[in-house]
Amino acid sequence: MDSMTPFVLHSPKSMAQALALLQAHPGGRLIAGGTDLLPNLRHGIGAPDPLIDLSGIAETRHIRRGADVWHIGAGVTLQQLELHADIRSEMPALSQAAASIAGPGHRAVATLGGNLCLDTRCVFYNQSEWWRQSNDYCLKHRGDVCHVAPQGGRCHAAWSGDLAPALIALNARVDILGALGPRSIPLADFYVDDGARPLALHAGELVTGVHIAAQPEGMRCGYRKARVRAAIDFPLAGVGACIVMTDGVLRDLRVALTGTNSRPFLLEGTEALCGAVVTQELLDALGKLVKKQVNPMRTTATPSNYRRQVAAVLAQRLIGELAGSVSS
Ligand SMILES: Cc1cc2nc3c(=O)[nH]c(=O)nc-3n(C[C@H](O)[C@H](O)[C@H](O)COP(=O)(O)OP(=O)(O)OC[C@H]3O[C@@H](n4cnc5c(N)ncnc54)[C@H](O)[C@@H]3O)c2cc1C
Ligand code: SF4
Repeated sequence: MDSMTPFVLHSPKSMAQALALLQAHPGGRLIAGGTDLLPNLRHGIGAPDPLIDLSGIAETRHIRRGADVWHIGAGVTLQQLELHADIRSEMPALSQAAASIAGPGHRAVATLGGNLCLDTRCVFYNQSEWWRQSNDYCLKHRGDVCHVAPQGGRCHAAWSGDLAPALIALNARVDILGALGPRSIPLADFYVDDGARPLALHAGELVTGVHIAAQPEGMRCGYRKARVRAAIDFPLAGVGACIVMTDGVLRDLRVALTGTNSRPFLLEGTEALCGAVVTQELLDALGKLVKKQVNPMRTTATPSNYRRQVAAVLAQRLIGELAGSVSS
């Protein structure tokens, strides 16, 4: 990895100041924990001018549980999410996802906002400048051709953040601040299936946090991921899920996936599985839905078909565990 090239750093003390800086400098870039952005910059991917450092802003470091909604600020660290006692008991999918990200040193500084706004990843992209140059770069940055799908006109880099699938399964909304004021959209709609531009953020906007409405009585949730190493590794596939069961019958099922497509997404068609007990047949049907909707491409050293299969198995195992037992 190369050294950082010289850069200008601004350190706003409020989100309003950060927004004003972002609007005044169209070539600027936000930096929070820096654990994703800095490796990319040191690989020569982008040269933002200036960097706008969010780490000194106190107003987005809150985790608040209201009567019927959670508010979590963009500046909350992954370590806080991992260790927060009420999140662990009420929304274990979120604490499990946070605990699975990178290593303890990263999690101490890495933020919710940075994790939701991660860049996509590809074995042809997350490389040093000289490596990419010797490969004629690629469509995502400085090149003309996608080495993964040369005939297509788009980038298929995989979106590989761990918090989003947990939060999408929990039906979270993301809070955004821009020149026209604040807005809020379902987190599932925050992502676009385009590896070159995966976020539905308008120019000059930033993320201030997420909010999560109270969950239905008896909701159970979890997060599971497959990775090459058991620590400090992005997901080859990751699954967040929430279920509601009453009298042994599955009433609601939300499953969201990451690591396989250019965006994290909510699995479609799960309502057809509700209203029944959880059987192996139901899990088989769930696995089919997953395999049909994931689209892993040759963006990692691990074969695409493995990622497709493992996504289905993770979803099946997780729902089996959350249900408590699988009837025959
Ligand atoms: C060795 C290693 C392993 C890793 N493993 C994982 C993993 O397993 N899973 C995983 O999900 N991630 C992983 N990461 C990536 C990263 O550590 C985390 O995703 C982290 O949460 C990023 O948060 P950050 O605050 O450091 O983001 P930054 O690096 O500061 O920013 C990331 C991006 O978000 C933008 N951004 C930051 N805050 C905001 C905001 N408020 N509004 C709008 N845009 C914003 C930045 O401009 C930048 O584009 C890994 C990183 C490393 C180096
Ligand atoms: S998917 Fe294609 S365009 Fe996107 S980063 Fe990989 S090689 Fe580049």
